Amino acid sequence: MSTTPLEVLPRDLSAYRQGNTGVDYVHRFDSGKPGPHVLINALTHGNEICGMVAATHLLDTGVRPKIGTLTVSFANVAAYESFDIERPFDSRQLVHNMNRIWSSDWLDGAEDSPELQRARALRGVVEAADHILDIHSTSQAVPPFWVYPSFSRNAAVALAIGCPALHLVMPRGLGSGTPLIQYGPHGSEGPGPGVALVAECGQHFQQASSDLATAVTLDFLAHFGLVDAPATAPAQPQLRFELLETHLVRTTDFHFTRPLIGLESFAQGELIATDGPHAIVAPCNDCTVFMPTREPIVGREAVYLTKPLD
Ligand SMILES: [Zn+2]
Repeated sequence: MSTTPLEVLPRDLSAYRQGNTGVDYVHRFDSGKPGPHVLINALTHGNEICGMVAATHLLDTGVRPKIGTLTVSFANVAAYESFDIERPFDSRQLVHNMNRIWSSDWLDGAEDSPELQRARALRGVVEAADHILDIHSTSQAVPPFWVYPSFSRNAAVALAIGCPALHLVMPRGLGSGTPLIQYGPHGSEGPGPGVALVAECGQHFQQASSDLATAVTLDFLAHFGLVDAPATAPAQPQLRFELLETHLVRTTDFHFTRPLIGLESFAQGELIATDGPHAIVAPCNDCTVFMPTREPIVGREAVYLTKPLD
């Protein structure tokens, strides 16, 4: 396994703990003018530090909304603070994946964990937002991409922003739990206008991922009129992929048939991985894999299978 260059490391966030909303690590700025309430959320996964860079950029440079309301939140700070430079991937979560528990089964259920406590504390923050950008990064160095439920309102905004140029569209959810961007009204087509997007900004620890996270954040805010539009980059061709299957790791004997980092394509019927006695086979031609696990852990996601749209 290749070693991971750690270009960007976590920094002390204690100065950001005291917000102004009654919830730790949540900061809100009301312009006093009508307009949308936009939530920029970082660190749903504790080791995805590009979101932290983007969020602290907003706070450190004093970005204030011209209209509407801006909320900046750091979600799984407890996991983030568990960062160990010898095991940089382990601070993704402490107990639960904080991006799979945004259903009432989990939030109103009897189980407890640092992630469930934090998600319960953040419910009102997420509910209050009209539009949500949830900033993530990937374990492998692949081009950045959006992830969103396939509601037209989400696609319209992701395509209008145009960077990232790759889109992972989910017609039937994530397939392994309810992500933050599908909490409440953001989880159904519904009549509401609320847009909720994940931006996967590149590999966790690369400087380019943090730079992109900051740029996407400013683009997202500019799209809704909260900040002035940054200089526009040349339009890139947009490539959208539809999520077909989400596979979890079922056994300790999981192997891809060849090393994968994401965006590789398989022909219909081609073997992608074996998992003990189970085979993961491409269900269609041009089957394109997203987010193959770099270290299989039973019960966690193994790989997402997609097909190109459009
Ligand atoms: Zn993530």
